This record gives sequence, structure tokens and C-alpha cells, in this order.
Amino acid sequence: MTEFELIRRYFTRPPADPIRVPLGVGDDCALLAPKPGMQLAISSDMLVEGRHFLSTVEPDRLGHKALAVNLSDLAACGARPLAFTLALALPEADADWLEAFARGLLALADAHGCALIGGDVTRGPLNICITAIGEVPAGLALRRDGARPGDEIWVSGTVGDARLALEVFRGRLSVPQQVFDAARRRMECPEPRVALGLALRGLATSAIDISDGLAGDLGHVLAGSGCGATIAWPDAFETIAAQRQWKPSEADFSSENWQSLVLAGGDDYELCFTAAPERAAEVEAAAVAAATPVRRIGRIDAAPGLRVVDSAGHPVDGSWRGFDHFG
Ligand code: ADP
Ligand code: MG
Repeated sequence: MTEFELIRRYFTRPPADPIRVPLGVGDDCALLAPKPGMQLAISSDMLVEGRHFLSTVEPDRLGHKALAVNLSDLAACGARPLAFTLALALPEADADWLEAFARGLLALADAHGCALIGGDVTRGPLNICITAIGEVPAGLALRRDGARPGDEIWVSGTVGDARLALEVFRGRLSVPQQVFDAARRRMECPEPRVALGLALRGLATSAIDISDGLAGDLGHVLAGSGCGATIAWPDAFETIAAQRQWKPSEADFSSENWQSLVLAGGDDYELCFTAAPERAAEVEAAAVAAATPVRRIGRIDAAPGLRVVDSAGHPVDGSWRGFDHFG
């Protein structure tokens, strides 16, 4: 199979929306026609084998995840996906692998109306780089610099489960099979929170997607917004799905271990966002409209720094600060 056959066979389809995407794969450039009054939101993410995914992952899940992590960035900006490019380095042109990869990738693309408009293919160690392009009305993008003291901090879905699966893969943790299966799904098949991001336009004061861990990513919002935050550990603990199915003893798995998973885990692709407390009911309604669960876990403070407190309001020690508690 030649390079051009490969592109034609697996990655060429007519754009579904010829008005907004007048020219797709096949020319020197693709053409986009954003609606008047809209800004383009653009984000790239690269996935490298061994670094961002394990060689054991099924290619359809890899295709899904490669696009999901990019759509998650659009979601965090409140942007509606429009199109994406795919730059792919492959060790070989394996038809079964390509077919499955394209299936996972394009199923997610179709679910979000996001057209594959171009890219590049080269021989090399497996490496996937996607650039996603979305649209957001001018002035309404959700950003990292809008959090204000008094705002409440919210998190969508579940966080920490993806990291739990990684620790099991690494042989550092063993959990019941059903807990692992669910966590593995979270790691390999994240669902970008696009609908929630759209519903939070004009409502959230700031937003970020959780790719490197809740504490670290919230830290970017705090730095961007020039403020601090306090997280209530009992509320944050509720965000990890595994705690509902698995009740290990403190000796087998300590509360510090749970804190590491939830606060420093990463790879969750949930949204962490802030909103004024008087708009909490609107946030709840937006979450229902987006069919995405959300939970309040803390509050933005004027004092810089991130604090985690227990149910009595006492500080929880900083073991969660290190990115790799297990390492
Ligand atoms: P160029 O010679 O202009 O760099 P290429 O020969 O690399 O273009 O690619 C030919 C066409 O196929 C271009 O429109 C390019 O955007 C598209 N393309 C290349 N690789 C991919 C891919 N992995 N997915 C989708 N389109 C691709
Ligand atoms: Mg060319």
C-alpha cells in the first residue's frame, strides 16, 4: 500500500458540512469557513507510544483517545468542534491496525461533527499528532484567567480512575477485576466533555481540562487568575468512581493513596471549572442539559496557593503535591 492509497483508504471522506468545511483532504490546504462572529479555537496534542499510551492498547481505543484528548481541550474552552488534522508516524502500514484505528477515531469524530480535513503520514516510531479546530462566539471562550475569590470549584465526571488503571498495569497495585475493567475504560476511552463546555459558556468564570492531575491543572487556573484555592478532601474523594466499588483497608490502600489518585492522577479529561456561588443552580441545570455529572469540591481564595482540608477543616498534608506518589 502506498502512502496515497493509505490516506485515501482510511482517512479520506467528504466533509459532512460543505458550508463550514468547503475543502477537505486532498489539496495542499484544507479550507474552513467559520461563521461570522465566531473565533477559531485551535489545539494540538501528540501521543507517543510508551509515554502517552501502552503498546497493549487496542488500536480502535487509541484512535478514539487520540482525538478525545484534543476535543477535551476544545471542551475546556467552550468551543464546538469543527475539524481536525492528523499527522501520523507508523512503523508499517498494517491494514488491520489502520482499519481499527480509523474506526475508533472517525466514530468519535462523527459523534461530534468534527471533520478530518488533512494531515501527514510518514514511516517512523508510532506517534500520533492531532490538531483540533473549534468555533466559539467572540468573547465567550472559557479561559484559565477568569477565576475570582469566592467562586466555587467544580469537577465533572470522575477523576483518578485512569491513574488507578495505570498503576495496575505497572504492577504497583492490584484491585478487583471489575474495578480494573472500569478504570481501564476510563484510561483508554475518555469521553471529551464537549456538551458541558458549550453549556458553561457565559456561566463558568474559568475552565481547564484535567490531563495532568486535578491539583496541577487547577494550579494553572490559579496561576492564570492570580488567586488561590481550598479543596475539601471529603468532596474530592467522591469524584473517584473506584471508591464506590472497592473498600480496601487503610493498611492496604491508605487515604494518602486515594489523595494521590484523585489530586495528582491525570489522564481523566474531565473539566475543572469555576463559577460564582449564586450561579450554582444554573451550573447544575447546565450539567443536566449536557447529561454530565458535576460536583463542587472547593472554593477560590484571594490568598495564593492550593490547600486541601479534611472534614474538620484541618489541612491535609502535601503528599498529593508530587506528580508521582507511586514512583
Ligand atoms: P503535501 O504534499 O501537500 O504535504 P501530502 O502528500 O502529505 O500533502 O498529503 C496529501 C493530502 O492528504 C493532503 O491534503 C493532506 O492534508 C492529506 N493527508 C495526509 N495525511 C493525512 C492523514 N493522516 N489524514 C488525513 N489526511 C491526510
Ligand atoms: Mg502538496
